[in-house]
Amino acid sequence: MPAPALDTIANLAKKRGFVFQASEIYGGLRSSYDYGPLGVEMLKNVKNEWWKAMVQHRSDVVGLDSAILQARQVWQASGHEEVFTDPMVECTNCNGRFRLDKLADNNKCPTCGKIGTFTDPRNFNLMFRTHMGPIDTEENLVYLRPETAQGIFTNFESVRRTNRLKLPFGVAQIGKSFRNEITPGQFVFRTREFEQMEMEFFCHPDESAEWFQYWQDQRFQWYLDLGMQQGNLRIRPHDTDELSHYSAGTVDVEYRFPWGWDELEGIANRTDFDLKQHSEHSGEDLRYFDQEANERYFPHVIEPAAGATRTMFAFLIDAYHEEVVDDDERVVLKLHHNLAPYKVAVLPLSKKAELIEPAEKVLSTLQRRWMVELDVTQSIGKRYRRQDEIGTPYCVTIDFDTLDDQAVTVRDRDTMKQDRVSLDGLERYLFEKLD
Ligand code: ATP
Repeated sequence: MPAPALDTIANLAKKRGFVFQASEIYGGLRSSYDYGPLGVEMLKNVKNEWWKAMVQHRSDVVGLDSAILQARQVWQASGHEEVFTDPMVECTNCNGRFRLDKLADNNKCPTCGKIGTFTDPRNFNLMFRTHMGPIDTEENLVYLRPETAQGIFTNFESVRRTNRLKLPFGVAQIGKSFRNEITPGQFVFRTREFEQMEMEFFCHPDESAEWFQYWQDQRFQWYLDLGMQQGNLRIRPHDTDELSHYSAGTVDVEYRFPWGWDELEGIANRTDFDLKQHSEHSGEDLRYFDQEANERYFPHVIEPAAGATRTMFAFLIDAYHEEVVDDDERVVLKLHHNLAPYKVAVLPLSKKAELIEPAEKVLSTLQRRWMVELDVTQSIGKRYRRQDEIGTPYCVTIDFDTLDDQAVTVRDRDTMKQDRVSLDGLERYLFEKLD
Protein backbone atom coordinates (compact mmCIF):
# COMPACT_ATOMS: atom_id res chain seq x y z
CA MET A 1 0.00 0.00 0.00
CA PRO A 2 1.38 3.48 -0.82
CA ALA A 3 2.13 5.74 2.16
CA PRO A 4 -1.03 7.44 3.43
CA ALA A 5 -1.26 11.19 2.97
CA LEU A 6 -0.23 13.34 5.90
CA ASP A 7 -3.79 14.72 6.18
CA THR A 8 -5.23 11.22 6.40
CA ILE A 9 -3.16 10.45 9.48
CA ALA A 10 -3.69 13.88 11.04
CA ASN A 11 -7.47 13.55 10.56
CA LEU A 12 -7.56 10.05 12.02
CA ALA A 13 -5.44 11.18 14.97
CA LYS A 14 -7.86 14.01 15.66
CA LYS A 15 -11.09 12.11 14.98
CA ARG A 16 -10.18 9.21 17.26
CA GLY A 17 -8.56 11.19 20.06
CA PHE A 18 -4.84 10.57 19.57
CA VAL A 19 -3.69 14.17 19.04
CA PHE A 20 -5.49 17.52 19.30
CA GLN A 21 -4.31 20.99 18.36
CA ALA A 22 -3.26 22.78 21.57
CA SER A 23 -5.50 25.69 22.66
CA GLU A 24 -7.92 24.76 19.91
CA ILE A 25 -10.93 26.53 21.45
CA TYR A 26 -8.89 29.76 21.12
CA GLY A 27 -8.02 29.12 17.50
CA GLY A 28 -5.04 26.87 18.25
CA LEU A 29 -1.40 27.52 19.07
CA ARG A 30 0.68 26.66 16.03
CA SER A 31 3.00 23.68 16.41
CA SER A 32 1.75 22.77 19.89
CA TYR A 33 -0.24 19.58 20.32
CA ASP A 34 -2.12 17.86 23.11
CA TYR A 35 -2.18 14.08 23.34
CA GLY A 36 -5.71 12.72 23.85
CA PRO A 37 -6.80 9.53 25.64
CA LEU A 38 -5.47 7.24 22.89
CA GLY A 39 -2.38 9.32 22.11
CA VAL A 40 -1.25 9.40 25.71
CA GLU A 41 -1.46 5.60 25.88
CA MET A 42 0.38 5.08 22.63
CA LEU A 43 3.09 7.60 23.44
CA LYS A 44 3.55 5.95 26.84
CA ASN A 45 3.85 2.58 25.10
CA VAL A 46 6.54 3.90 22.74
CA LYS A 47 8.49 5.28 25.69
CA ASN A 48 8.03 2.05 27.68
CA GLU A 49 9.32 -0.05 24.80
CA TRP A 50 12.37 2.19 24.49
CA TRP A 51 12.99 2.04 28.24
CA LYS A 52 12.62 -1.74 28.31
CA ALA A 53 15.11 -2.18 25.45
CA MET A 54 17.58 0.46 26.62
CA VAL A 55 17.46 0.09 30.43
CA GLN A 56 15.37 -2.76 31.82
CA HIS A 57 16.73 -5.55 29.62
CA ARG A 58 20.35 -4.50 30.07
CA SER A 59 22.76 -4.46 32.94
CA ASP A 60 25.06 -1.78 31.48
CA VAL A 61 22.57 1.11 31.21
CA VAL A 62 20.87 3.03 34.04
CA GLY A 63 18.16 5.68 33.96
CA LEU A 64 18.03 9.35 34.87
CA ASP A 65 15.47 12.15 34.97
CA SER A 66 17.22 15.52 35.01
CA ALA A 67 15.61 18.96 35.25
CA ILE A 68 14.36 20.92 32.26
CA LEU A 69 15.81 24.11 33.76
CA GLN A 70 19.57 23.93 34.26
CA ALA A 71 22.22 26.51 35.09
CA ARG A 72 22.97 28.76 32.12
CA GLN A 73 26.63 27.65 32.24
CA VAL A 74 25.53 24.17 31.10
CA TRP A 75 24.48 25.64 27.73
CA GLN A 76 27.57 27.82 27.56
CA ALA A 77 29.82 24.80 28.09
CA SER A 78 27.90 22.59 25.65
CA GLY A 79 28.12 25.28 22.98
CA HIS A 80 24.34 25.67 22.66
CA GLU A 81 24.33 29.34 23.66
CA GLU A 82 26.75 30.17 20.88
CA VAL A 83 26.07 27.71 18.10
CA PHE A 84 22.67 26.04 18.54
CA THR A 85 21.40 28.00 15.61
CA ASP A 86 19.71 27.46 12.28
CA PRO A 87 20.26 29.75 9.28
CA MET A 88 17.10 31.83 8.77
CA VAL A 89 16.04 33.89 5.74
CA GLU A 90 13.07 36.22 5.43
CA CYS A 91 11.10 36.94 2.28
CA THR A 92 10.94 40.70 1.76
CA ASN A 93 7.73 40.29 -0.26
CA CYS A 94 5.50 38.22 2.06
CA ASN A 95 7.57 38.39 5.28
CA GLY A 96 7.64 34.57 5.55
CA ARG A 97 10.59 33.18 7.55
CA PHE A 98 12.32 29.98 6.53
CA ARG A 99 15.13 27.68 7.54
CA LEU A 100 17.60 28.03 4.70
CA ASP A 101 18.94 24.46 4.89
CA LYS A 102 15.42 23.00 4.54
CA LEU A 103 14.35 25.03 1.47
CA ALA A 104 13.92 23.09 -1.77
CA ASP A 105 15.13 26.15 -3.72
CA ASN A 106 17.03 28.72 -1.68
CA ASN A 107 16.25 31.53 -4.11
CA LYS A 108 12.48 31.05 -4.35
CA CYS A 109 9.94 31.77 -1.60
CA PRO A 110 7.75 28.65 -1.03
CA THR A 111 4.86 30.84 0.20
CA CYS A 112 4.53 33.61 -2.39
CA GLY A 113 6.64 32.09 -5.17
CA LYS A 114 8.76 35.25 -5.68
CA ILE A 115 12.37 34.77 -6.75
CA GLY A 116 15.32 36.64 -5.27
CA THR A 117 13.36 38.19 -2.38
CA PHE A 118 15.24 36.53 0.50
CA THR A 119 17.32 38.53 2.96
CA ASP A 120 20.85 37.38 3.75
CA PRO A 121 20.73 34.40 6.14
CA ARG A 122 21.21 35.12 9.81
CA ASN A 123 21.77 32.60 12.56
CA PHE A 124 18.77 32.18 14.81
CA ASN A 125 19.28 30.58 18.24
CA LEU A 126 16.68 27.88 18.85
CA MET A 127 16.67 27.93 22.64
CA PHE A 128 13.57 29.24 24.44
CA ARG A 129 14.44 31.86 27.03
CA THR A 130 12.74 32.55 30.32
CA HIS A 131 13.66 34.07 33.68
CA MET A 132 14.04 32.44 37.05
CA GLY A 133 12.48 34.47 39.84
CA PRO A 134 10.44 37.65 39.74
CA ILE A 135 12.85 39.92 37.87
CA ASP A 136 13.48 39.72 34.12
CA THR A 137 17.17 40.52 34.06
CA GLU A 138 20.05 39.03 32.10
CA GLU A 139 21.45 37.46 35.33
CA ASN A 140 18.15 35.58 35.80
CA LEU A 141 18.07 34.25 32.27
CA VAL A 142 17.53 30.50 31.93
CA TYR A 143 16.78 28.32 28.94
CA LEU A 144 14.26 25.54 28.46
CA ARG A 145 16.51 22.61 27.56
CA PRO A 146 16.76 21.93 23.81
CA GLU A 147 17.89 18.33 24.45
CA THR A 148 17.98 15.97 27.41
CA ALA A 149 21.59 14.87 26.84
CA GLN A 150 23.36 17.63 28.75
CA GLY A 151 21.64 16.62 32.02
CA ILE A 152 23.32 13.24 31.56
CA PHE A 153 26.79 14.72 31.07
CA THR A 154 26.53 17.00 34.10
CA ASN A 155 25.48 14.00 36.22
CA PHE A 156 28.11 11.65 34.77
CA GLU A 157 30.24 11.51 37.91
CA SER A 158 27.32 11.36 40.41
CA VAL A 159 25.69 8.50 38.51
CA ARG A 160 28.98 6.62 38.13
CA ARG A 161 29.94 7.01 41.79
CA THR A 162 26.55 6.27 43.39
CA ASN A 163 25.96 3.21 41.21
CA ARG A 164 29.60 1.98 41.29
CA LEU A 165 29.64 1.76 37.49
CA LYS A 166 32.57 0.63 35.40
CA LEU A 167 33.07 1.48 31.75
CA PRO A 168 31.48 0.79 29.39
CA PHE A 169 28.07 1.97 30.67
CA GLY A 170 25.18 4.09 29.50
CA VAL A 171 22.76 6.58 31.05
CA ALA A 172 19.30 6.88 29.49
CA GLN A 173 16.71 9.58 29.81
CA ILE A 174 13.26 10.37 28.43
CA GLY A 175 11.82 13.85 28.69
CA LYS A 176 10.55 17.05 27.17
CA SER A 177 12.76 19.28 25.08
CA PHE A 178 12.02 22.65 23.54
CA ARG A 179 13.27 24.27 20.36
CA ASN A 180 12.04 27.51 18.90
CA GLU A 181 11.97 25.98 15.42
CA ILE A 182 11.84 28.45 12.53
CA THR A 183 9.64 26.19 10.44
CA PRO A 184 7.76 23.68 12.56
CA GLY A 185 5.30 21.51 10.68
CA GLN A 186 4.21 18.26 9.14
CA PHE A 187 1.85 17.70 12.04
CA VAL A 188 3.79 16.40 15.08
CA PHE A 189 6.97 15.69 13.10
CA ARG A 190 8.57 19.01 14.01
CA THR A 191 7.12 20.86 16.98
CA ARG A 192 8.52 23.42 19.39
CA GLU A 193 7.79 21.26 22.43
CA PHE A 194 8.49 17.55 22.03
CA GLU A 195 9.76 14.49 23.85
CA GLN A 196 13.12 12.84 23.39
CA MET A 197 14.55 9.45 24.30
CA GLU A 198 18.32 9.77 24.58
CA MET A 199 21.09 7.57 25.86
CA GLU A 200 24.76 8.44 26.34
CA PHE A 201 27.00 5.38 26.24
CA PHE A 202 30.42 5.99 27.79
CA CYS A 203 33.32 3.79 26.70
CA HIS A 204 37.10 3.61 26.30
CA PRO A 205 38.25 5.75 23.32
CA ASP A 206 39.72 2.67 21.60
CA GLU A 207 36.33 0.94 21.67
CA SER A 208 34.17 3.78 20.40
CA ALA A 209 34.07 2.71 16.73
CA GLU A 210 32.86 -0.75 17.72
CA TRP A 211 30.17 0.60 20.04
CA PHE A 212 29.09 3.10 17.39
CA GLN A 213 28.33 0.20 15.02
CA TYR A 214 26.75 -1.83 17.83
CA TRP A 215 24.26 0.91 18.68
CA GLN A 216 23.34 1.47 15.05
CA ASP A 217 22.43 -2.21 14.77
CA GLN A 218 20.52 -2.25 18.05
CA ARG A 219 18.51 0.84 17.30
CA PHE A 220 17.62 -0.21 13.75
CA GLN A 221 16.42 -3.59 15.05
CA TRP A 222 14.28 -1.92 17.72
CA TYR A 223 11.99 -0.38 15.09
CA LEU A 224 11.76 -3.67 13.19
CA ASP A 225 10.95 -5.62 16.36
CA LEU A 226 8.03 -3.27 16.91
CA GLY A 227 6.68 -4.07 13.47
CA MET A 228 7.95 -1.16 11.38
CA GLN A 229 8.20 -2.20 7.73
CA GLN A 230 11.82 -2.68 6.77
CA GLY A 231 11.32 -1.03 3.37
CA ASN A 232 10.33 2.19 5.15
CA LEU A 233 13.43 2.33 7.29
CA ARG A 234 17.07 3.05 6.47
CA ILE A 235 20.32 4.24 7.99
CA ARG A 236 21.93 7.27 6.34
CA PRO A 237 25.47 8.26 7.30
CA HIS A 238 26.02 12.03 7.49
CA ASP A 239 28.21 13.62 4.85
CA THR A 240 31.35 15.24 6.21
CA ASP A 241 29.88 18.74 5.75
CA GLU A 242 26.85 17.77 7.90
CA LEU A 243 28.95 16.56 10.85
CA SER A 244 29.20 18.62 14.03
CA HIS A 245 32.78 19.72 14.64
CA TYR A 246 33.20 17.27 17.55
CA SER A 247 31.58 14.25 15.88
CA ALA A 248 33.69 11.33 14.71
CA GLY A 249 30.65 9.95 12.87
CA THR A 250 26.88 10.41 12.80
CA VAL A 251 24.13 8.43 11.13
CA ASP A 252 20.43 9.09 10.98
CA VAL A 253 17.82 6.38 11.22
CA GLU A 254 15.36 7.59 8.61
CA TYR A 255 11.73 6.73 7.93
CA ARG A 256 9.93 7.06 4.63
CA PHE A 257 7.40 9.75 5.65
CA PRO A 258 4.59 10.81 3.27
CA TRP A 259 6.88 13.66 2.07
CA GLY A 260 10.00 11.46 1.68
CA TRP A 261 12.87 10.13 3.80
CA ASP A 262 13.38 12.07 7.01
CA GLU A 263 15.07 11.66 10.38
CA LEU A 264 13.66 9.54 13.19
CA GLU A 265 16.78 9.27 15.29
CA GLY A 266 20.38 10.44 15.20
CA ILE A 267 23.23 8.20 16.39
CA ALA A 268 26.48 10.05 16.97
CA ASN A 269 30.00 9.31 18.06
CA ARG A 270 30.48 12.45 20.17
CA THR A 271 34.06 11.59 21.19
CA ASP A 272 35.07 13.19 24.54
CA PHE A 273 33.76 16.61 23.60
CA ASP A 274 30.98 16.99 26.19
CA LEU A 275 32.79 15.68 29.27
CA LYS A 276 35.86 17.75 28.41
CA GLN A 277 33.80 20.90 27.94
CA HIS A 278 31.98 20.43 31.27
CA SER A 279 35.27 19.68 33.02
CA GLU A 280 36.82 22.87 31.70
CA HIS A 281 33.83 25.08 32.45
CA SER A 282 32.91 23.67 35.86
CA GLY A 283 36.39 22.92 37.20
CA GLU A 284 35.24 19.37 38.16
CA ASP A 285 37.47 16.60 36.87
CA LEU A 286 35.11 14.38 34.88
CA ARG A 287 37.79 11.95 33.76
CA TYR A 288 37.30 8.27 34.50
CA PHE A 289 39.85 6.39 36.56
CA ASP A 290 40.47 2.83 35.46
CA GLN A 291 41.93 1.12 38.56
CA GLU A 292 43.10 -2.01 36.80
CA ALA A 293 44.99 -0.14 34.07
CA ASN A 294 45.89 2.69 36.47
CA GLU A 295 44.80 5.09 33.75
CA ARG A 296 42.76 8.32 33.90
CA TYR A 297 41.00 9.52 30.77
CA PHE A 298 37.90 11.13 29.31
CA PRO A 299 35.54 8.40 28.06
CA HIS A 300 34.18 8.66 24.54
CA VAL A 301 30.43 8.79 24.05
CA ILE A 302 28.03 7.14 21.63
CA GLU A 303 24.63 8.82 21.62
CA PRO A 304 21.45 7.31 20.14
CA ALA A 305 18.94 10.23 20.30
CA ALA A 306 15.36 9.63 19.19
CA GLY A 307 12.19 11.69 19.35
CA ALA A 308 9.34 9.97 21.21
CA THR A 309 6.58 12.05 19.65
CA ARG A 310 8.11 11.75 16.17
CA THR A 311 8.52 7.99 16.61
CA MET A 312 4.89 7.57 17.67
CA PHE A 313 3.87 9.50 14.55
CA ALA A 314 5.98 7.21 12.32
CA PHE A 315 4.43 4.10 13.91
CA LEU A 316 0.95 5.53 13.25
CA ILE A 317 1.78 6.11 9.59
CA ASP A 318 3.39 2.71 9.20
CA ALA A 319 0.44 0.89 10.78
CA TYR A 320 -2.23 2.62 8.68
CA HIS A 321 -3.95 0.28 6.20
CA GLU A 322 -7.03 0.60 4.04
CA GLU A 323 -8.57 -2.72 3.05
CA VAL A 324 -11.65 -3.94 1.22
CA VAL A 325 -13.42 -6.76 3.04
CA ASP A 326 -16.58 -8.23 1.49
CA ASP A 327 -17.05 -5.08 -0.64
CA ASP A 328 -16.73 -3.03 2.50
CA GLU A 329 -13.82 -0.70 3.11
CA ARG A 330 -12.10 -0.78 6.45
CA VAL A 331 -9.30 1.28 7.92
CA VAL A 332 -7.11 -0.67 10.28
CA LEU A 333 -4.10 0.33 12.34
CA LYS A 334 -1.92 -2.77 12.36
CA LEU A 335 -0.01 -1.65 15.40
CA HIS A 336 2.30 -3.98 17.28
CA HIS A 337 0.38 -5.24 20.33
CA ASN A 338 2.78 -3.48 22.68
CA LEU A 339 2.12 -0.12 21.02
CA ALA A 340 -1.67 -0.33 20.66
CA PRO A 341 -3.48 2.08 23.05
CA TYR A 342 -6.07 -0.54 24.05
CA LYS A 343 -5.23 -4.22 23.94
CA VAL A 344 -8.81 -5.45 24.21
CA ALA A 345 -12.31 -4.05 23.66
CA VAL A 346 -15.27 -5.62 25.45
CA LEU A 347 -18.42 -5.37 23.36
CA PRO A 348 -21.78 -6.55 24.78
CA LEU A 349 -24.13 -7.19 21.88
CA SER A 350 -26.99 -5.38 23.59
CA LYS A 351 -27.39 -2.72 26.25
CA LYS A 352 -29.65 -5.02 28.27
CA ALA A 353 -28.57 -5.47 31.87
CA GLU A 354 -28.23 -9.25 31.44
CA LEU A 355 -25.34 -8.63 29.00
CA ILE A 356 -23.89 -5.50 30.58
CA GLU A 357 -23.35 -7.29 33.85
CA PRO A 358 -21.10 -10.10 32.49
CA ALA A 359 -19.39 -7.54 30.22
CA GLU A 360 -18.44 -5.42 33.22
CA LYS A 361 -17.16 -8.51 34.99
CA VAL A 362 -14.94 -9.37 32.01
CA LEU A 363 -13.79 -5.74 31.85
CA SER A 364 -12.74 -5.59 35.48
CA THR A 365 -10.87 -8.90 35.24
CA LEU A 366 -8.93 -7.90 32.12
CA GLN A 367 -8.30 -4.32 33.29
CA ARG A 368 -6.00 -5.56 36.03
CA ARG A 369 -3.58 -6.62 33.31
CA TRP A 370 -4.20 -4.40 30.27
CA MET A 371 -5.78 -1.20 28.99
CA VAL A 372 -9.28 -2.37 28.05
CA GLU A 373 -12.23 -0.43 26.70
CA LEU A 374 -15.90 -1.24 27.21
CA ASP A 375 -17.95 -0.03 24.24
CA VAL A 376 -21.74 -0.32 24.27
CA THR A 377 -22.75 2.23 21.62
CA GLN A 378 -23.77 1.60 17.98
CA SER A 379 -24.07 -1.62 15.99
CA ILE A 380 -21.49 -4.35 16.50
CA GLY A 381 -20.17 -3.82 12.94
CA LYS A 382 -19.50 -0.14 13.61
CA ARG A 383 -17.86 -0.95 16.91
CA TYR A 384 -15.53 -3.43 15.21
CA ARG A 385 -14.62 -0.77 12.62
CA ARG A 386 -13.86 1.74 15.34
CA GLN A 387 -11.62 -0.70 17.19
CA ASP A 388 -9.83 -1.55 13.90
CA GLU A 389 -9.23 2.14 13.31
CA ILE A 390 -7.61 2.64 16.72
CA GLY A 391 -5.58 -0.55 16.44
CA THR A 392 -7.16 -2.67 19.22
CA PRO A 393 -5.78 -6.19 18.67
CA TYR A 394 -8.75 -8.12 20.16
CA CYS A 395 -12.49 -7.58 20.54
CA VAL A 396 -14.40 -9.70 23.01
CA THR A 397 -18.11 -9.93 22.20
CA ILE A 398 -20.63 -10.95 24.80
CA ASP A 399 -23.90 -12.20 23.30
CA PHE A 400 -27.05 -13.91 24.53
CA ASP A 401 -25.44 -17.34 24.07
CA THR A 402 -22.86 -16.30 26.65
CA LEU A 403 -25.56 -16.62 29.29
CA ASP A 404 -25.98 -20.30 28.38
CA ASP A 405 -22.51 -21.49 27.30
CA GLN A 406 -20.40 -19.19 29.51
CA ALA A 407 -18.26 -18.36 26.47
CA VAL A 408 -17.48 -15.26 24.40
CA THR A 409 -16.37 -14.54 20.83
CA VAL A 410 -12.87 -13.17 20.41
CA ARG A 411 -12.14 -11.39 17.11
CA ASP A 412 -8.61 -10.84 15.85
CA ARG A 413 -8.01 -7.34 14.38
CA ASP A 414 -5.72 -8.41 11.53
CA THR A 415 -7.24 -11.71 10.37
CA MET A 416 -10.79 -10.88 11.53
CA LYS A 417 -11.06 -14.55 12.51
CA GLN A 418 -13.31 -15.30 15.45
CA ASP A 419 -12.79 -17.87 18.20
CA ARG A 420 -15.30 -18.99 20.78
CA VAL A 421 -13.50 -18.95 24.12
CA SER A 422 -14.82 -19.97 27.55
CA LEU A 423 -15.07 -17.19 30.12
CA ASP A 424 -12.84 -19.22 32.43
CA GLY A 425 -10.09 -19.46 29.85
CA LEU A 426 -10.38 -15.93 28.42
CA GLU A 427 -7.58 -14.28 30.37
CA ARG A 428 -5.15 -17.09 29.57
CA TYR A 429 -6.18 -17.08 25.89
CA LEU A 430 -5.49 -13.33 25.63
CA PHE A 431 -2.34 -13.60 27.69
CA GLU A 432 -0.90 -16.10 25.21
CA LYS A 433 -1.77 -13.82 22.30
CA LEU A 434 -0.72 -10.51 23.81
CA ASP A 435 2.26 -11.14 26.06
P1 ATP B 1 16.63 18.33 12.61
O1 ATP B 1 17.87 18.31 11.75
O2 ATP B 1 15.43 17.59 12.00
O3 ATP B 1 16.25 19.68 13.13
P2 ATP B 1 18.28 17.34 14.72
O4 ATP B 1 19.24 16.52 13.91
O5 ATP B 1 18.66 18.67 15.20
O6 ATP B 1 16.89 17.44 13.91
P3 ATP B 1 18.66 15.92 17.14
O7 ATP B 1 19.23 17.07 17.86
O8 ATP B 1 19.57 14.85 16.64
O9 ATP B 1 17.76 16.45 15.93
O10 ATP B 1 17.50 15.30 18.03
C1 ATP B 1 17.30 13.92 18.20
C2 ATP B 1 15.89 13.54 17.82
O11 ATP B 1 14.94 14.36 18.49
C3 ATP B 1 15.56 13.72 16.33
O12 ATP B 1 16.00 12.62 15.58
C4 ATP B 1 14.06 13.81 16.37
O13 ATP B 1 13.46 12.53 16.41
C5 ATP B 1 13.78 14.52 17.67
N1 ATP B 1 13.53 15.94 17.42
C6 ATP B 1 14.44 16.92 17.24
N2 ATP B 1 13.84 18.11 17.03
C7 ATP B 1 12.50 17.86 17.07
C8 ATP B 1 11.34 18.67 16.92
N3 ATP B 1 11.43 19.99 16.73
N4 ATP B 1 10.13 18.09 17.02
C9 ATP B 1 9.99 16.75 17.25
N5 ATP B 1 11.07 15.94 17.40
C10 ATP B 1 12.30 16.47 17.31
